[in-house]
Amino acid sequence: MSKNFKLTLTLLLILGIAGIAYRSAFFRPKTPPSSPTPSVTRDLSMLASRPDWSVLEPFQNTISGEDFERLISTVFTTGEKWKNFIEITTSEARIKTGSEASNEIFHLRFSPSTATTPAPRHWKTAAELPASTLAKPLAGIRIAIDPGHIGGEWAKMEERWFVLGSGKPVCEGDMTLQVAYLLKPRLEALGATASLVREKNAPVTPLRPASLLALAEASTTPEAREKYAERLFYRTAEIRARADLVNQIIKPDLVLCLHFNAEGWGNPNNPILTDHNHLHFLVNGAYDDDEIALADQRFALLHKLLQRSQEEEIAISTSLAKSFVTITGLPPYQYPPQSTNVRPIQGNPYLWARNLLANRLYDCPVIFMEPYVMNSTTAYARIQAGDYEGLREIAGTMRPSIFREYADAVATGLSHHYAALRKP
Ligand SMILES: [Zn+2]
Repeated sequence: MSKNFKLTLTLLLILGIAGIAYRSAFFRPKTPPSSPTPSVTRDLSMLASRPDWSVLEPFQNTISGEDFERLISTVFTTGEKWKNFIEITTSEARIKTGSEASNEIFHLRFSPSTATTPAPRHWKTAAELPASTLAKPLAGIRIAIDPGHIGGEWAKMEERWFVLGSGKPVCEGDMTLQVAYLLKPRLEALGATASLVREKNAPVTPLRPASLLALAEASTTPEAREKYAERLFYRTAEIRARADLVNQIIKPDLVLCLHFNAEGWGNPNNPILTDHNHLHFLVNGAYDDDEIALADQRFALLHKLLQRSQEEEIAISTSLAKSFVTITGLPPYQYPPQSTNVRPIQGNPYLWARNLLANRLYDCPVIFMEPYVMNSTTAYARIQAGDYEGLREIAGTMRPSIFREYADAVATGLSHHYAALRKP
């Protein structure tokens, strides 16, 4: 055993123990936590645990073969390689549970096409909720608000920060938190139970880049190792910690992931501003050929597909897009046609499917919002104006604060969506 390998194993063990200690100190999950040992195995994503395929047992006989094939081939994948791992027969899907070399198969039995067995899940769709009053259309709904990124002292590392001349720095993680705090009381006033997945500009994960350096061994230079460990910290470990919080403690019916979009700004200390300003929403789907080859992602895809969360994500995003377009007038964002990790959602130019760590791991419908281009001339001027009540003239037009406009558009969209489906 080489010295480096021993060091890696020791660090993995320390990380594993730290993970257990952290979970037991802050979370008291009803079910025992899955193995917290970070993964360096090639058939798993970074820091992923090996999936427990028995979790899919309750979904036996809940979906027809036709529906399964349609969903997997038209919305959940972007290539053909899923066929190397999932074989569809007339009565079942035979799914490889491990690496390509493994022979282990999970058998998912299809229902006859006429059967309508409801998929077992802990969250409720708008249609499943009891009727509500017009004043409280979100009564009985538990909503987790996830302010994107970490912000604060981590914003530069996350590459979600720029400053123009003597202006105020633009920091996405701080802005999403600001919107979250404006949104929470608006959702509560509509009857929802709302909670924030991150309440301050600090990481949810107890891990830090230094503790993840050992996993960056393949990088060739010390600088590359450091960058890799940083990404592992703010992209991977942070989202996994948030997923634990969402899935084990909050257990919401819906997660709203708040973001501001951006276009390439180049040097963060001398950023490029653009005239492009746009809007889009993301639902889970569009797993590419490399992602489907990883056992944990294949499992997550099937868990999402079988819960039918995408149907709810599309329905809610459609209502949100409507209110955002009415309130902001923003045009839809168009991904480059050659993108292999995205799929358009038919019939709505504002909706796209993408496989992101958060919308894959959060165990309920998840809506990713990407309104406003932070480095567009208009959004930049509005961000510089900060938060305020009422209207102010910005770039020649009377406008509300960009943060309040964002929160109002979300609250209005959700209110209309649930009110329409929960008529008293
Ligand atoms: Zn973002």
